[in-house]
Parts: sequence; structure tokens; C-alpha cells
Amino acid sequence: MALAIGVDLGGTKIAAGVVDENGTIVAANRRPTPSLSSEAVIDAIAELVLELREQHTVEAVCVAAPGFVDAARSTLMFTPNLPMRNEALGARLTSSIGLPVLIENDANAAAWGEARFGAARGRANAVILTVGTGLGGGVIVDDRLVRGAFGFAAEVGHMTLIPDGLECGCGQRGCWEQYTSGNALLRTARHLAAQQRTDAQRLLSLGDGTPEGIQGQHITLAAQQGCPVAIASFNQIGEQLGRGMATVSALLDPEVFVIGGGVCEAGDLLLAPIRAEYEVRLTARSHRPLPTIVAATLGNDAGIVGAADLARQG
Ligand SMILES: [Zn+2]
Repeated sequence: MALAIGVDLGGTKIAAGVVDENGTIVAANRRPTPSLSSEAVIDAIAELVLELREQHTVEAVCVAAPGFVDAARSTLMFTPNLPMRNEALGARLTSSIGLPVLIENDANAAAWGEARFGAARGRANAVILTVGTGLGGGVIVDDRLVRGAFGFAAEVGHMTLIPDGLECGCGQRGCWEQYTSGNALLRTARHLAAQQRTDAQRLLSLGDGTPEGIQGQHITLAAQQGCPVAIASFNQIGEQLGRGMATVSALLDPEVFVIGGGVCEAGDLLLAPIRAEYEVRLTARSHRPLPTIVAATLGNDAGIVGAADLARQG
């Protein structure tokens, strides 16, 4: 069976896996991301791939990178969290590894993983949203990953949700991810806890008792235990996700939305408010089939599995 390697290049760690044609990871390895230079990152990826190839015969490699990748899927144009600008990552890795190496945006790779082997398997038209530090997205139309003319498609987190709203790291204001990311959930929970201390007791008790001491995982735990402020925080994030997803449907009309990322571990605490607001906001909702809105199933492996499949397809 043909094997390929998917590499998930993150700001803090690089994870790599040998993946078979069924999307199963048969071997995996990881190491911290070197922060000093582009060369150090490239060397670390090459070493990981070399180690995996000692035990397995692979035919291609794809690196899922956290940034903008050019249309040729070779140059990492820009990445906010790594020391790389306009870096010919694909060509440099191809020459040092001796195998074809593609570069893909990490959210796109994770979306492809979910589309081929996860929650959107068998669906030709899907939108995958990854709720993490930011809000990433991937779009599948007619069984194909949509990359756009220049490779920059599906940056859904930077669609404007609130005109002149909160400042975003991208330099604009009111971007969707400012209201829907894991960071937005944390900000919302801390704000509500400061205002409603009695209702936030359970949530506050999981940290050091102050709103600033609340951490992301506390919110899920407290919400599962019925804490009103934690539940309200998920409601707010879910509403803003559902609101934006109705706009996405106006453009793409997907048959399924897949919600991934760490925040989706909250399950229906997040999905229920998403579905409710989505239906309120959807144009002509009584006269059309509704897409399903489901949680991702591949978890942190989606990027590796998706990248390896893209590598195999070339
Ligand atoms: Zn933005």
C-alpha cells in the first residue's frame, strides 16, 4: 500500500506521520519547532522525515504550514508565528529529502483530512471550520479543495463580521475570528465572570478564583458541570459562528459544516447554539435543505492525515 508522510508544522511543535491510503497513521514522530531561523526549521522537518523513512518506504511528503502558501504549493509566502517570509520551502525540502514535497496551508490540509477520512467523508461540498487560537477554514467544492487563484482562499476567519469591530492581528477590524476563536471564548468567559461572580462560581473555582485565572479548559469543564457563565460563553461564541456560517452558505451552499479545533471538544455546548443561530440567519431557511453541522472526528491528526493524502495525490 502506498505510504506518504504528512508534516504538521506548528509554532511550537512539528509533528509528522507516515499515513496509508485509508488515512491511518502507521508511524509518527514529533519535536519542538526551532525558533531561531528558517534553516533550523527546514533541517528539523528533514530530520523527522528521514527518521520515519528508516522504517517505511514512502512516495511523497506534504508539509501543512501555518500561513499563506502560493498557488504552486511550494513557497511559504508569509507566516505570523515562524521566522519565514517568501521561503521556497517546497524546493528546499525536495532537494534535501530527495522526494517530492508539497506545501499546503494547515487549515486546508486539516479540512482535506476531514473531507477524505473524517466527519465530511463522502460529502462533495463541505466547509470545515477550525476553532483554535484563531478561526481557520477549508472549503471543499465538488470533491476538490478550493485554493483560489493565488492560494489564499478560505481565510474565513478574516471575513468581516462586525463593521469597525474588534481589532484583529491581520490589521483589519471586526474579523470573524475575533468573535469565535478559542481566544474569544476565553475573553468572553473572563468578562462575564467579572460581571456575574455568583453565576461564575464554578468556573472561577477551577482557576485561582480571579477572572484572569480562567483558562480555556476550565470553560468546557465548568459548562459540562452546568455553570451558567461558562454556558453563556459558549452560547455567545456559538451564535457568532452560526451567524457567519449563514453568510458562508449564501456563497457556497455546503451540505455539511464540520467544526474542529480544541473548542469543539465541548460538543453540543458549542454545536447547539451554532445550529440555532445558523437557522435564524439563513436566507430562505424554510424553503431549502439544511446542511448538517457536526464536530470534526480526526482531532489533532487531521493536518497530518490530510497533508499525506494531498502528497499522495501530487
Ligand atoms: Zn483579521
